[in-house]
Amino acid sequence: MALGATSEQVAQVTAHIEALGLKAHPIPGAQRVAIGITGNPGALEPALFESLPGVLEVIPVSHPYKLVSREVKPDVTVVTVGGVRIGGGHFAVIAGPCSVENADQTLSAARSVRAAGAHILRGGAFKPRTSPYSFQGLGKPGLEILRDVGRQTGLPVVSEALDEESLDLVVEYCDMIQIGARNMQNFSLLRTCGRARKPVLLKRGMAATIEELLMAAEYVLSEGNYEVVLCERGIRTFADHTRNTLDLAAVVAVQRLSHLPIIVDPSHGTGKRHKVIPMGRAAAAVGADGLMIEVHHDPARALSDAAQQVMPEELAQLMQQLPVLLPLTGRHLSAHAVGQERQV
Ligand code: PEP
Ligand code: MN
Repeated sequence: MALGATSEQVAQVTAHIEALGLKAHPIPGAQRVAIGITGNPGALEPALFESLPGVLEVIPVSHPYKLVSREVKPDVTVVTVGGVRIGGGHFAVIAGPCSVENADQTLSAARSVRAAGAHILRGGAFKPRTSPYSFQGLGKPGLEILRDVGRQTGLPVVSEALDEESLDLVVEYCDMIQIGARNMQNFSLLRTCGRARKPVLLKRGMAATIEELLMAAEYVLSEGNYEVVLCERGIRTFADHTRNTLDLAAVVAVQRLSHLPIIVDPSHGTGKRHKVIPMGRAAAAVGADGLMIEVHHDPARALSDAAQQVMPEELAQLMQQLPVLLPLTGRHLSAHAVGQERQV
């Protein structure tokens, strides 16, 4: 739509699209609204829409992914999670333990996350573990702890949903839904996320191409949820000096193709504590929109991912270094959720 298009004009174009039996997706941008059209079996005649009031141009999308593409929406998307902005220059840091283990451990991690200046608290309650005999997470009581600790420390919270059942709980207790690498192509779960009214953190599958990642995000947007943040978390290669190979070029690739924000998880991306902070700095330098870092007050005793969780002081050091790196790519640390300063 044109720069000054009114909301009535957006509504008229949307109604026109729907009257043709198609699905309209009005996606607001920083400058102007883009209206994606899906449900068409083949190419549409641009003349169908070109002369409607407020329409600037009609762009046929050449990629298989549509709504996530820059063709549909050239402006970058800013996703807001419990008051914290991600994307469009706002760099947000999500940090916290791999798993919620108990209330004390979670509160200790949350206090260090907040003291370091990070923005959003993470903590898994439903854990996707390779072995069925490993710690599987606390489930619903874990989400209760995460929510309470988030409120106590003034941090919005994110946690992983493994299936439809845990998704309902994550939607109820958290500010953001995490879909993990193993579920990146769980298409029915993605569709359900698309109908949820919470932002989604979609992690790249460990053997997924960029196109597959974008197509996965397309599932969420196609159901009407446009609040998706992508996450590069390393892919499986032959390299054994690192748990996964963190593919920082994915950030650059995604930003060319998509308007969605993309953050980097150097914790799962490297799997080794001493590599996390250096690769976090690299991600900030490359132009990512944020980071996800696992932190634990006693990593060696952590119930999951003991080898990769950093100490609180390491996170604090990284947070102090970010303001040096972010201006290189026109980014700045995002503002904290309103009210954070007032709570301890
Ligand atoms: C996680 O972030 O807790 C996690 C399990 O990561 P991934 O899905 O990237 O393996
Ligand atoms: Mn983990």
